[in-house]
Amino acid sequence: DDKPVAQLDPPQTVEPAMQITHPDRRMFADSDCTKADVADYYRAVARWLLPELVDRPLSLLRCPDGADDACFFQKHHAEGLGAAVHAIPLKQKSGTEDYLYVDSLDGVLALVQMNTVEFHPWGARIDDPEAPDRLVFDLDPAPGVAWPQVVAAARDVRARLREAGLESFVRLSGGKGLHVVVPIARDYSWDQARLFCESFARTMAEQAPDAYIATMSKARRKGLVFIDWLRNARGATSVASWSLRARAGAPVAMPLRWDELGRVGSAHDFDLPRAKQRAARLRKDPWEGIDGLRQRLPL
Ligand code: ATP
Ligand code: MN
Ligand code: MN
Repeated sequence: DDKPVAQLDPPQTVEPAMQITHPDRRMFADSDCTKADVADYYRAVARWLLPELVDRPLSLLRCPDGADDACFFQKHHAEGLGAAVHAIPLKQKSGTEDYLYVDSLDGVLALVQMNTVEFHPWGARIDDPEAPDRLVFDLDPAPGVAWPQVVAAARDVRARLREAGLESFVRLSGGKGLHVVVPIARDYSWDQARLFCESFARTMAEQAPDAYIATMSKARRKGLVFIDWLRNARGATSVASWSLRARAGAPVAMPLRWDELGRVGSAHDFDLPRAKQRAARLRKDPWEGIDGLRQRLPL
């Protein structure tokens, strides 16, 4: 009973035992990627992914029958998500509702176990959900718009933001377009944020009507890039950097340095293996410094 400390068993260093059932389930019809591969992917990119989604209300895209069949969005917390997935009560018109968030890799993996493929955080954090800390200009090219025109649009958004004194960051959506993200001080309401983004987008469309449009109307979008400012309303989301997309080829939403943008051929250039490789090789975050920038809006 007086066993010396030196003879005690060494502390256990087992991996957190997040159980992934149906590991062989194929999650994408056109690739061999399984549920186990999705879990491995999120483990491999956790260092870069977690800062982008921890402590933010999340919407999930869950694909219980594989990513090419019916997927559905979930924003509410529910029983059965496990202890690593937390509830955050948020006031909605109909009353208070429990949204969900995670603060660890275990939380991410618990959601993968529930067949989550995509992660969509709010541009606000749980300690102050009424004050956005990130704005997103979601650039949506109409069908047929060439990739260089999308890149030019993002660079134009960046330049115009700079004129307004704002630094910005760029992400491949993993789908068709680009996201330009602006970190701001948590001193503004969602209404103020949305109004700034709306007027910024409308000004761009007025000044270059042959390149941009700021309204949803699909009919008039031919050949244009829609500057989608609607991602900046309370409750809206944008896909997280490093999230897989439930689309053909298992593409990833990839954050880039601005000087990398010219070397990319499409919004879905990074598939799961390429994204994993990039995560392993990256020495610093392509968005390094974003959280230190608490920028003021020119209202
Ligand atoms: P793409 O480049 O193909 O447009 P995207 O992710 O930007 O990809 P959008 O349709 O432009 O897709 O939507 C922008 C963001 O709005 C998404 O990343 C997602 O977070 C959110 N969103 C879009 N549709 C829905 C939906 N039906 N339910 C919940 N969130 C959605
Ligand atoms: Mn988009
Ligand atoms: Mn959009």
